[in-house]
Amino acid sequence: MAISEYKGVWVFAEQRGGEILNVSLELLGKGRELADSLGTKLTAVLLGDQVKDIASELIHYGADEVIVVEDKLLKVYMTETYTKVMTKVINERKPDIILMGATAIGRDLAPRVSARIHTGLTADCTSLEIEEDTKNLLMTRPAFGGNIMATIICPDHKPQMSTVRPGVMVKMERDECRSGEIIELSSELTEKDVNVEIIEIVKEEKAKMKIEEAEVLVSGGRGLGKKENFATLELLAKELGGLVSGSRAVVDAGWIDRDYQVGQTGKTVRPNLYIACGISGAIQHVTGMEDSDLIIAINKNSTAPIFEVADVGIVGDVEKVIPAVIEELKALKE
Ligand code: FAD
Repeated sequence: MAISEYKGVWVFAEQRGGEILNVSLELLGKGRELADSLGTKLTAVLLGDQVKDIASELIHYGADEVIVVEDKLLKVYMTETYTKVMTKVINERKPDIILMGATAIGRDLAPRVSARIHTGLTADCTSLEIEEDTKNLLMTRPAFGGNIMATIICPDHKPQMSTVRPGVMVKMERDECRSGEIIELSSELTEKDVNVEIIEIVKEEKAKMKIEEAEVLVSGGRGLGKKENFATLELLAKELGGLVSGSRAVVDAGWIDRDYQVGQTGKTVRPNLYIACGISGAIQHVTGMEDSDLIIAINKNSTAPIFEVADVGIVGDVEKVIPAVIEELKALKE
């Protein structure tokens, strides 16, 4: 089949326990734009067990149609079953573009599906546009540690696949007046397709207090050197009655959870006191904290951009400065 015959923009509608993830709604917002500029349909693909009732929600958020595949074997996400069903539906219907959220599930599913259908995948895109002349999908993402933006195309294979992190795209206003078609397909899965048994699903305890609501934030960056050093930040936050947050670098490194990320793709915070420890002050971080009442920055590099937004700057090593500050605070209390 000629690649020009691949038609339509698809969004993988990720659901957990029957609840559609926000990132999928955000992707429908972007998908709507792409489909309109290509003059094609926007389709949401919803896999799960007894999920048909939530399909109309995807239409309210911009989809023209929803492909629903229900099967008790799809109740919880499993790599093999979801890959098999997605691959089958894509091979049958041949979409031009597929978008998935860069969630734990999307990051697992997208590369497997792209390998099975022999196409490319651009992960963690921050911008998606249609090139006017060629109608190629321009997939832009940070490269080389965020220092340059790379625009990637996949002109010789279809579909063009991309993942996008939560919070990057903007969802449309929910509109109950929107109508669309719901297409039910069979999964054709059998027990033989399942080689993994899920014994228990343990939900991670969510942040008890949101960083957006904290009056004091002690925020750590890559300059902390290692995950274990966050324990010192916790001590400082405890002394000040605040919470610990961080830059995207430390979230990406797995040192803290994404719920605590400050910045453009994290949370926007306005505490009374923001202490930036070992954070360089990249624009994407600063946009999320520059409205804090008092900003104290600790950085060993006196030319770090964080000092441009700081009210108080301490040039020094976090491993020495923070324990010293904690000692001082304790002494003051005694
Ligand atoms: P680095 O830039 O590596 O800085 C580490 C700092 O620590 C340096 O200034 C260094 O001098 C200092 N240091 C090192 N050792 C010590 C020490 N012992 N004592 C004291 N100081 C020390 N970033 C965000 O934070 N939030 C976002 O939401 C976000 N969104 C993004 C969205 C896009 C589209 C892109 C492209 C990027 C985004 N980023 C975001 C990433 C951002 O560009 C930076 O890469 C990131 O903020 C850098 O994190 P950092 O300051 O912790 O690390």
